Amino acid sequence: MTALRIPADLLPSDGRFGCGPAKIRDASVAALAGRGAALLGTSHRQAPVRNLVASVRSRLAELFAVPDGYEVVLGNGGSTTFWDVAVSSLVERQSAHASFGEFSAKFAAAAAAAPFLAEPTVTTAPVGAVALPEAVAGADVYAWAHNETSTGALAPVRRIEGADEGALVVVDGTSAAGGVAVDVSATDVYYFAPQKSLGSEGGLWIALLSPAALERVGRIAASDRWIPESLSLQVALTNSRLDQTLNTPALATLFLLEDQLGWLLDQGGLAFAARRTADSASRIYPWADASPYAVPFVTAPAYRSPVVATIDFEGVDAKVIAATLRANGVVDTEPYRKLGRNQLRIGMFPNVEPDDVSRLTRCVDWVIERLG
Ligand SMILES: *Cc1c(COP(=O)(O)O)cnc(C)c1O
Repeated sequence: MTALRIPADLLPSDGRFGCGPAKIRDASVAALAGRGAALLGTSHRQAPVRNLVASVRSRLAELFAVPDGYEVVLGNGGSTTFWDVAVSSLVERQSAHASFGEFSAKFAAAAAAAPFLAEPTVTTAPVGAVALPEAVAGADVYAWAHNETSTGALAPVRRIEGADEGALVVVDGTSAAGGVAVDVSATDVYYFAPQKSLGSEGGLWIALLSPAALERVGRIAASDRWIPESLSLQVALTNSRLDQTLNTPALATLFLLEDQLGWLLDQGGLAFAARRTADSASRIYPWADASPYAVPFVTAPAYRSPVVATIDFEGVDAKVIAATLRANGVVDTEPYRKLGRNQLRIGMFPNVEPDDVSRLTRCVDWVIERLG
């Protein structure tokens, strides 16, 4: 069945629809091989790389319209490492989480495993829906994911009513950041990694910290809690202020990120990115709604992610569709592995051409007609 050859004129111009690592623009890769080549293999403690980091930090501040007093901090290890950083350096006694998929659940699990913290509270919603954490007395961190990449559900980003004074809002923006509008002032920590909407490679975490978060980090760092150096947000902050990281970063990741930020800002910033991903979303959800065999997995239209579309199938094996697409150079449409649904998952980050999303839907129709 995977021997089906999709006609070339139906195929997308670029076949990458993954949810991370996700499509990197050819121009970024060419720039890396061009002007980036002089940076690769040079010291991250010297001016050329530190200037690159400085540019990444200032472009991020511009893209996200970071309010006065917020700081852009970065370190190695990606968003998964940041959960451990947050457990070590941000949660004082207890955190409150919303869990509605694999990624939001993982931060809650990391907090639950910390021997020096009280048991976190977790507000759950079934996969495909969203939840925000319920206010609980004593919680000093409220945490959830802006975009639950495992399910394609987009949650609101806002302050939690009824939370204790001084409690921090810590939002995982990993797949949303750079592709979805966000009001950073509604968060104390908005953190993400660059291999999704931000069109780069993995390996870094980035966090936008409010003055209240900076104060919390300093206070915990000065306490008698043992914090491994690589998980210390205070150490990361000190290094970031010098446009460095504690240990050696991947220079290609930084370069590609800086290039992508320049492109996004040139095109009109986050408003441009959000328009573009909304355009892509408008190509796929109505198509699935109208299809006799496809249906959007996220039932509430308001929670359907503009950057990660999950489409359930009935009467046809989605695995065969994904395998056929893959054999034709259209890759990474497989669903999140642990979700176990008869589903395709489509990354529609700003680098994806909306027209390519339309072409993808036509390819799926074409394949299904021939599978019979
Ligand atoms: C991809 C993703 C992560 C994990 O990012 P890594 O950089 O691979 O650790 C965490 N949260 C969300 C919402 C994600 O999409």
